[in-house]
Amino acid sequence: MTALASVEPARDSAAVPPASLVGLPRDALAEALRGAGIPAGQVRMRTSQIWHWLYQRGVTDFAAMTNISKSLRDTLAGQFTLRRPEIVREQVSVDGTRKWLLRFPPRGAGRPVEAETVYIPEEGRGTLCVSSQVGCTLTCTFCHTGTQRMVRNLTAEEIVGQILVTRDRLGDFPEAETPPGTVVPAEGRLVSNVVMMGMGEPLYNFDNVRDALRIAADGDGIALSKRRITLSTSGVAPEIPRAGAEIGVMLAISLHAVTDELRDELVPINRKWPIAELLDACRAYPGLSNARRITFEYVMLKGVNDSDAEARELVRLLKGIPAKINLIPFNPWPGAPYECSEWERIEAFADIVNRAGYASPIRTPRGRDIFAACGQLKSASERMPKSEREMMRAE
Ligand code: SAH
Ligand code: SF4
Repeated sequence: MTALASVEPARDSAAVPPASLVGLPRDALAEALRGAGIPAGQVRMRTSQIWHWLYQRGVTDFAAMTNISKSLRDTLAGQFTLRRPEIVREQVSVDGTRKWLLRFPPRGAGRPVEAETVYIPEEGRGTLCVSSQVGCTLTCTFCHTGTQRMVRNLTAEEIVGQILVTRDRLGDFPEAETPPGTVVPAEGRLVSNVVMMGMGEPLYNFDNVRDALRIAADGDGIALSKRRITLSTSGVAPEIPRAGAEIGVMLAISLHAVTDELRDELVPINRKWPIAELLDACRAYPGLSNARRITFEYVMLKGVNDSDAEARELVRLLKGIPAKINLIPFNPWPGAPYECSEWERIEAFADIVNRAGYASPIRTPRGRDIFAACGQLKSASERMPKSEREMMRAE
């Protein structure tokens, strides 16, 4: 070995950001603290303290952790960060819906990436629609995100970060104030529900989504009931049992068609896991009951999937599954090849489903004016060409 080769390469601290403690499962957080030199006998207590500061109090600075000694806070601050995603743009709809374009640092070789998060305030609840990926590998024909190529998975830190940054902006932590003019629910928590219905397919980013949702549901963490967290999948059938066992939140299935022929076209993942296989996985989802049903999402596309016969077939297909059918008026985007069904058609479809004994709410489109409604999300992040990625890695 030459003398030169043994010299440590100069570290560009801007290029290698310190590790974050946000989004780590409890045991990994404990491990990180042990690695930082915290004595073994203290690790458990410190883990609980830091967990509390991060998720119940929402602190972004170690200096605020007043039950931890100054010297230990300094040690932690020297090694870790509690950074939030950067807000690039905040848009507010006339109906009070808010959309943030968030920027996340590069992971390994690559550029910073951007994804969107949407807050939908209603009378009795505040729902946060969270992204799991930048772009999507799937190409559902009615979805704007589907026209953006997959850039990368979001990490658990980045998924939890979307919830934390929203709570910062809304003043949803103790001792924080809600900025004047912000539309929030009349009572209860400001972020009371989380839906994995933003950009990306959550079951194609299983581990990160699991770790993030466990923090969202942890009683000492963000502390939302699992009944107030919903994971929506386009139909990754083989991961559904694992989602039930390891995450255990409410499940939503993007069904959208009642024949394989049409679903193959609208939701191309159907070619891999057709309707019968998907519904078998749903039937086996743990804990199903009339009080705990699967939501089937059905986008209403004019003249494509919205006939009375299709409504009847939907009822037949779902027989025996405790289900609720959420009819989503199609939200348009530039160049979309569909139109939304007429209102009377949607109501007629809903009536048939409803008369068969299923709840069939029609989802009110929210935030269409700022492109925040279902299926309208997209960011400008692009996947780097391979040559460029390799160049950055070599640098
Ligand atoms: N990838 C996951 C979750 C994100 S999409 C999934 O597909 O389930 C969230 C919901 O919005 C899905 O039911 C999706 O099918 C629906 N959606 C997509 N594009 C839409 C559009 N243009 N109008 C209405 N709903 C849409
Ligand atoms: Fe991806 Fe869901 Fe959009 Fe399909 S509907 S392209 S799975 S985000």
